[in-house]
Amino acid sequence: MPRTTRRTVLASLAALAATRLAAHPARALGSASALDPDWTTPHPPYRIAGNLFYVGSRDLASFLVATHEGLILINGNLATSPVPIRAGVEQLGFRWSDVKILLISHAHYDHCAGSAQILKETGATYMVMDADVASVQSGGKTDFHFSAHPEMLFPAAKVNRTLHDGDAVRLGKTTLTAHKTAGHTPGCTTWTLETAVLSGRAEPSYKAVIVGSPNVLSSYNLIDDPKYPNMAADFRCQFATLKSLPCDLFLGAHASYYGMLEKYPSLKAGSTANHFVDARGYHDFVAERQQAFETELARQQKTHTASHPS
Ligand SMILES: [Zn+2]
Repeated sequence: MPRTTRRTVLASLAALAATRLAAHPARALGSASALDPDWTTPHPPYRIAGNLFYVGSRDLASFLVATHEGLILINGNLATSPVPIRAGVEQLGFRWSDVKILLISHAHYDHCAGSAQILKETGATYMVMDADVASVQSGGKTDFHFSAHPEMLFPAAKVNRTLHDGDAVRLGKTTLTAHKTAGHTPGCTTWTLETAVLSGRAEPSYKAVIVGSPNVLSSYNLIDDPKYPNMAADFRCQFATLKSLPCDLFLGAHASYYGMLEKYPSLKAGSTANHFVDARGYHDFVAERQQAFETELARQQKTHTASHPS
C-alpha cells in the first residue's frame, strides 16, 4: 500500500490499541481473567537498531540496551515475565548477569512486578523516577489509585537511585535521559536515547523515544482526586514534553502504542527501511492521545459541574 496510507493505518492501529487498553477498567485492574493474552504471549527477541533490542512479549515491551560496560534493561513487566525476558536476552547472545541497570516506564504491575526477581538474579542497580519510588518500594500499596486493589499489587523492590526529570543514566558510551511524563502515574517516565552506530553495519544513529504512558484510565478522576489533585495539569505537561522530543524510533511501554506487531514483519523480512523509524506515527499517536485526554477532561468537567451547581 502507498507509504502515507500505510503510515495512517499503522497510526490508527496504534491509537486503537491504546484506546482499547485505556477504555477497559477490568483490563487496567488486571484480574487474571482480564489479562490481555498478548501480555504473556512470547515474541521473538530482536535488534531494533544499533545497540537497542526488544526482549518483551507480544504487548508488554521490554528493551535491552547493550554497551561495552554491560546491559541496561527497561521494564521487568509481570511477575511471570523475568523467565521469558531472560530467555530473550540469552537468545540474543548476551549474559543475564551482565544486566547492570534496571529501569521502568512506570510503577504499575504490568511494567514492574518482575523487577524484584530480576534485581535478585542480576544484582542490577534499580533506578526509578522520584514520584514513583514510594509505590515501587511498597509494592503498589502507596499507589494513588490502585492501593485498595490487591490484584494490582506487586513484589516490592528497593530503589538504588532516585531519578529526577532530565536525569541521565549512563553505561559505557550510551546515555539514556529520563523525562518525567506524569499523569498516568506521578512518576511515569519516557526514556530517550541515541542508538550506537555498530561497526560493519551501514546504519545511522537513531533518536529513540520510549513512551511511558499517555493514557487516562477510565476510572481516573481528572478533576479532584484528593490523592492526585494535579493529575490533569501533569497530563498537559506530559503532552508538551512528548511533542518536544525529537523522535526517529517510535517505541513505548506497550507494543500496541507503536504498532509493533504490524511493523515487525518488515524488519524480519530484511526490508531496507526500518519501519520502527516513524516520526510521523509518533506525532500522530501523541496528538491522538492528547485529544483523547482533552475529550475525557471535558466530559468529566461537564459531569462535575452538573453535580456541583454554583
Ligand atoms: Zn500503567
